[in-house]
Amino acid sequence: MRDAGVIKDEIAGLGLGTSGHVDHYNGRVITNSNLPGFTDYPIGERLESATNLPVSVDNDANAQAYAEYLFGSAKGYDNAVFVTVSTGIGAGIVIDGRLYRGVTGTAGEIGHTIVDPHSTVRCGCGNYGCLMSHASGLALPQVVRQKLRRPGVETIIDFTQLSDGEITGELIGRGFTQGDPLSREVIWEYGDYLGIGLQNLFQTLDPGVIVVGGGLSNWGEPYLDRIRSRFYQTAGTMLAHPLEIRRATLESNAAVIGAAALVLEPT
Ligand SMILES: [Zn+2]
Repeated sequence: MRDAGVIKDEIAGLGLGTSGHVDHYNGRVITNSNLPGFTDYPIGERLESATNLPVSVDNDANAQAYAEYLFGSAKGYDNAVFVTVSTGIGAGIVIDGRLYRGVTGTAGEIGHTIVDPHSTVRCGCGNYGCLMSHASGLALPQVVRQKLRRPGVETIIDFTQLSDGEITGELIGRGFTQGDPLSREVIWEYGDYLGIGLQNLFQTLDPGVIVVGGGLSNWGEPYLDRIRSRFYQTAGTMLAHPLEIRRATLESNAAVIGAAALVLEPT
């Protein structure tokens, strides 16, 4: 703090956004598949005793949702949902200007809502047909390889030479730009599934705006347009107000701004 030229008395608190299931109320990380050592870990308490500052811990989707609400694409909307489509899929929900967390703090885990009960794709949670299994970065290698097994599939990318780790959103985005039919099919399909996911959110929460962020949102307007098209077609006349689907604006700094925004949340 001293090195950054900041006086401790001027610091309102410390915000931390992390992946995984987070118990915001007790400042605990419940589970985190990316950081195994942090299972049921009282990170808030540890940071408070190390810094002597009030600490607010939440999952990164909630932190980003609050940042988009305060400073980004959801500014001015007291009822908004932020959806991150990255390795996984999650959402942060703002209701009447406050983050909605549910009983344990894990509300918004829309990646595990089931969008296809007849699906043969099994999610890490054990269920079949989760949104995450059909529309996330994590699912890309499996989705692509399943399409490659179809006779007569057309692609300009030699996927057989690539490991699962190399089949990324970036690769598919590049393929789309170069006119690759398989990449286009993947992006359309991903857009359709997310559009259905957003329809489920709309029917449940009726927000004023839905903001889409995360790595796969870098597929840009063609992807966003496909999401919108499926969403508006599915919502149809049940949509009685001009709900907008926007891209996140704080993307590259969202995690940091989100963590800081948590401190500004009214208690
Ligand atoms: Zn699941």
